[in-house]
Amino acid sequence: MHKSGFVNIIGNPNVGKSTLMNALVGERLSIITSKAQTTRHRIMGIVNGDDFQIVYSDTPGILRPSYKLQEAMMHSVEGAVKDADVLLYVTDTIEKGDEASARIVERIRMSAIPTIVVINKVDLTEQCHTEMLVRTWSEQLPEAEIVAVSALHNFNVGRVFDLILERLPQGEPYFDKDTLTDRSLRFFASEIIREKILLNYEKEIPYSVEIVIEEYQEGANLDRISATILVERTSQKGIVIGHHGEMLKRVGTAARKDLEKFLDKKVFLQLYVKVDDGWRNSERRLSAFGYE
Ligand code: GDP
Ligand code: MG
Repeated sequence: MHKSGFVNIIGNPNVGKSTLMNALVGERLSIITSKAQTTRHRIMGIVNGDDFQIVYSDTPGILRPSYKLQEAMMHSVEGAVKDADVLLYVTDTIEKGDEASARIVERIRMSAIPTIVVINKVDLTEQCHTEMLVRTWSEQLPEAEIVAVSALHNFNVGRVFDLILERLPQGEPYFDKDTLTDRSLRFFASEIIREKILLNYEKEIPYSVEIVIEEYQEGANLDRISATILVERTSQKGIVIGHHGEMLKRVGTAARKDLEKFLDKKVFLQLYVKVDDGWRNSERRLSAFGYE
């Protein structure tokens, strides 16, 4: 029996939705991708097992408590509620519910979607306060499962995972497991850099270039990425770097900005340019870069 489904993460800003998704996806991450077409940045994280596939959707800013935004906001929340197989409603031990979130909670109560209320940041409070919150939430959403966690300290996140798996419907995977497994953050980082090369240089440069991610250090709020741009000839190196390093700087800034949007966090990006004579014709080099 195979299970698969979409798990949408909603909740007020700053309660720890992204941190929770990162913790849930953790090392089991196969892919993080963004639906570029959506107006709001929506990040998906896919977790594969032998007999399951969970597609997480992080929805930043969905409950922005600005009155003007409320209609649009309700619309996208409705969307997130509708296309979910399992809903994670994230709250924390600090926030005081407002009118907007009360409406969303009402929406959830009316829906038939299995919901898990995650009370995050229990590390910031006393146990009795947490227990009180658990009681309050189970009164508000009697059908939902309530879990208290600390996403930041990876406390009880495994329990959330177990609850999701229990509630996941039977079904085939939505995304090809094989093609996803070797698509890592490194892959996306190199693709984003390559795209900027394509946009900023002409003629043979884009086709002579390969991106190698030398280092990828993930952090809670900042990822450190260092990458080498390989070119085939010394003359190309000069072109890529540009006068006073102007071109390389432009590529680096554009890539960093996109990476930050894509990852929803800060990025420290270092780019180097290196000549790798004839990499395009070297079978060994090509297979090292992941080409068939
Ligand atoms: P989002 O806006 O809901 O996606 O929230 P983020 O995941 O960006 O987190 C907002 C802030 O809360 C960040 O500074 C996190 O480091 C912090 N945070 C997230 N989870 C926890 C937690 O379990 N404990 C504590 N103390 N802070 C947390
Ligand atoms: Mg977020």
